[in-house]
Amino acid sequence: EGRETRLRVVLRVRPLTCTETRRGDQQVVHSLGDGAVHVSAARHDATFGFSAVFDAGASQEAVFEGSGMRQLVELAMDGFSCTVFAFGQTGSGKTYTLMGPLGQSDAQPAPPALLGLMQRSFTCLLEQSRSRASDLALSASYLEIYNEQVRDLLSPGPPCALPLRWSKSRGFYVENQLSVEFESLEAIVSLLLQGSQRRRTSAHALNRHSSRSHALLTIHVRSRAVSAHPAPGQGWGAQGSARGACPSKQGTLCFVDLAGSERVKETGSSGELSVEANSINRSLLALGHCISLLAKPRGKRTHIPYRDSKLTRLLARSLGGSGITLMVACISPSSRCLSETLSTLHYASRARRVTTRP
Ligand code: ADP
Ligand code: MG
Repeated sequence: EGRETRLRVVLRVRPLTCTETRRGDQQVVHSLGDGAVHVSAARHDATFGFSAVFDAGASQEAVFEGSGMRQLVELAMDGFSCTVFAFGQTGSGKTYTLMGPLGQSDAQPAPPALLGLMQRSFTCLLEQSRSRASDLALSASYLEIYNEQVRDLLSPGPPCALPLRWSKSRGFYVENQLSVEFESLEAIVSLLLQGSQRRRTSAHALNRHSSRSHALLTIHVRSRAVSAHPAPGQGWGAQGSARGACPSKQGTLCFVDLAGSERVKETGSSGELSVEANSINRSLLALGHCISLLAKPRGKRTHIPYRDSKLTRLLARSLGGSGITLMVACISPSSRCLSETLSTLHYASRARRVTTRP
């Protein structure tokens, strides 16, 4: 607490897809063990280091346990603001890592072994909350950033834009966002499905792909030590209100599924700048810019332009403030994705130098 902590950056390399194998794509990414990964192709030969590297053979469970996700859940329960974000080009496995194949089809529920970081974290959170000697209140909010508009994925009716505000005590926050309480795994998974469905159907109606929006699911954890003789009439305390020796704590656990990173280049070269591509462009560039500046030593840092995009405003605390952050960089091992893969690896390496003060 209060000490400078680095962002934890792990890498996941997905297996070659059937299409990639069939057309004979070369595998250019190789895990060397101990968090090192090697990229070798015609004119490229580079090694990168991360806190952990998960290759094609890594199970969803191995990613959950080896990435530090379990600790992140526990820290959220201790009152910290925790964020995990998945980053990488479209098709690199971000949604698979966060949600499992459930992100793709609603017809069949995913087998338990394929559930992603989100469902595993929910399970862990609910198990812990039962075993700890404290009362917990859990609630969830789910937002997407689409065309530089923040939209609530949980409130009924057509999606409408919500204002993003700033206050001294709260930092950047979204006004009027719906927060839904839940007590069971079924309830939170159904909220996740509902929200993802809304994200997809609204994208579908506009004939656009879902990966063109950034999605943020936040679990709010409010905990209070259970006292043997609860004072009558006392509900959940306000932040910081002490009850006996144990003050109440409010932690958050935020899952961020970023839009595909390759848009930046595509739009830059095509010249056909749709509003949508422009927005993704803008927010991912702003995020990259903030990360580059934050990667400098604290003493040498200049102003960090969080205000350049909605995404960076919402991630300000996770990146440069008091949050604890895990970044999962996702890449494809295929030779055809080489340039995107290298750009993701450079981006992720830079993020390793970013520090926060939880
Ligand atoms: P993104 O969200 O980054 O666009 P997806 O998560 O949708 O990418 O993954 C693209 C495709 O690759 C999907 O069909 C997904 O099921 C598959 N895939 C991704 N990662 C893995 C993995 N680790 N193991 C097996 N299949 C994967
Ligand atoms: Mg996706």
